[in-house]
Amino acid sequence: MKKLLSTLLLFGGFVYSQNGIPTDYFSNPLDINMVLAGNFGEMRANHFHSGLDIKTEQREGLPVYAPADGYVSRINVQHYGYGKALYILHPNGYTTVYGHLRSYAGEIEKYVKDTQYKKETFELELFPEKTMLAVKKGDLIAYTGNTGGSGGPHLHFEIRDSSQRPMNPLLFGIEIPDSRTPIVSAVFAYPIGEDAHVNQGQNRTKLRLIKQKDGNYKTESLTAYGKIGFGITTFDQQDGASNKNGSYKINTRFNGTEKFEVLFNKFDFSETRYLNRYTDYNYYETNKSMVQKLFRESNNPLSIITKEDDNGYITVKDSLASIYTIEVLDFKGNTMQVSIPIEGKKLELLDPKKVEKTDDYIYADHATSITKGKFSIYIPANSLYEDTYLDIKDEGDILKFHEDIIPIHSNISITADISNYKEEDKDKLYIGRLNYKGLPYYTSTTRNGDKLTGKTRTFGSYTVAIDTTEPEIKPINFAEGKWISNQNFLKVKITDDLSGISSYRGTINGKFILMEYDYKKDVLTYNFNDNVNLETENNFKLIVIDNVGNSATFEAKFFRKQP
Ligand SMILES: [Zn+2]
Repeated sequence: MKKLLSTLLLFGGFVYSQNGIPTDYFSNPLDINMVLAGNFGEMRANHFHSGLDIKTEQREGLPVYAPADGYVSRINVQHYGYGKALYILHPNGYTTVYGHLRSYAGEIEKYVKDTQYKKETFELELFPEKTMLAVKKGDLIAYTGNTGGSGGPHLHFEIRDSSQRPMNPLLFGIEIPDSRTPIVSAVFAYPIGEDAHVNQGQNRTKLRLIKQKDGNYKTESLTAYGKIGFGITTFDQQDGASNKNGSYKINTRFNGTEKFEVLFNKFDFSETRYLNRYTDYNYYETNKSMVQKLFRESNNPLSIITKEDDNGYITVKDSLASIYTIEVLDFKGNTMQVSIPIEGKKLELLDPKKVEKTDDYIYADHATSITKGKFSIYIPANSLYEDTYLDIKDEGDILKFHEDIIPIHSNISITADISNYKEEDKDKLYIGRLNYKGLPYYTSTTRNGDKLTGKTRTFGSYTVAIDTTEPEIKPINFAEGKWISNQNFLKVKITDDLSGISSYRGTINGKFILMEYDYKKDVLTYNFNDNVNLETENNFKLIVIDNVGNSATFEAKFFRKQP
């Protein structure tokens, strides 16, 4: 077993690893055992995970402590994404990031609230001056939560370098016990060359895995010829949790010679969507499992690929036996190996490459415009990773725009002619993507006269949808004319049937109140501790607007004992 941090060097009181990363600078941000729900680099929909998801004992509100001296350099409050996030810049140039927080602590919380009231908004992004919110190692800075796009209470913790590239926090000496070997759940072969084949087929082939006595795997022997790549589905579990996290390193060899290495040490946010190029997108969309392709195709700039020979492909010659091996390692060096015996044989093709030809062949590096009935599509250059046939049809009000089995890298526009709609309806239209229930899911839409344009990065069926219904507002813990002196919060449920919630604004007695929006529960919450000039008799008013501008107003009177 190779130890990554085998040589430790001492500089100015701090311990550095061979690659110059300080290994005792950051302490754990939580004072509970570090158990991970997710690790660095693991594969998620459209992105690589950029930090550690630290479990918080299924609850919210655990104190978060500054892992080193520094200052609050950024605060971001969003409905989606990281929810309430905090960024601390440390004097050594690294930034630590905390996501999905329930709230900030002390002076930080006060500064955020004051600014939210001043700007009359929940969502905001702030970049405080260096001297404003300095922190010392061990200071209480926030409380863990479940805000934004989080599926359960946890702390999202990141360490970024001075160029804001996320790095693997484990490189910094954060200790996660891991005695378990990575699991390989499937291996695939991809014939690439024109005359290449695997077992006489030219399509993706799943190989049968045979467990060996030593715990490693072998596959059935293949007959193959020509240029071939391989793919793998794998995960790693650490001690104390059953979560299927990502591996740390994968390397491949062909007859003993290194072919390819993937290493999850760091990446740049500008690269993260290329995950869809690196993984088998078609397989993921149909099987919900991510195959990592252990070769680099065109338009894949990923820097996690740290070694490659002929882009990771092998070339199998006729009448030669060879062996291809894949090694998967976790951060602790636990290793799983898969050996693939290959018999070189040029054979007749029984299952040639399947290509579905259509009228619309798209060159990835060209911009393309296509018109079908009342719809026109604009595909900017490099929105697609490779040249491909697209299956595009208009069926009256529905545009069938291929199938969600090919990834889209950057926005494609779909424009619909709406001249045949009634004038008063035109403002209530949007471009919707039909979900599995056939309901039109809102895509960001703009209108220019009789042209309605939606932007998308997903293939599928689109339609012009109309939303004429205003959002619904329902009080949760109060009612018109009631006394609610004992309530700490005012809670309201807000929903919209089609286009979705766009904005909201609450007031009490005409004064703005901060309402926090939890889109996962459709709930707006006001905290009475915010102390907005309350009287005994109070008038609450809430306006909610959907994505096409339908507006709903809710008003209620409530009573509260004066302190
Ligand atoms: Zn996370």
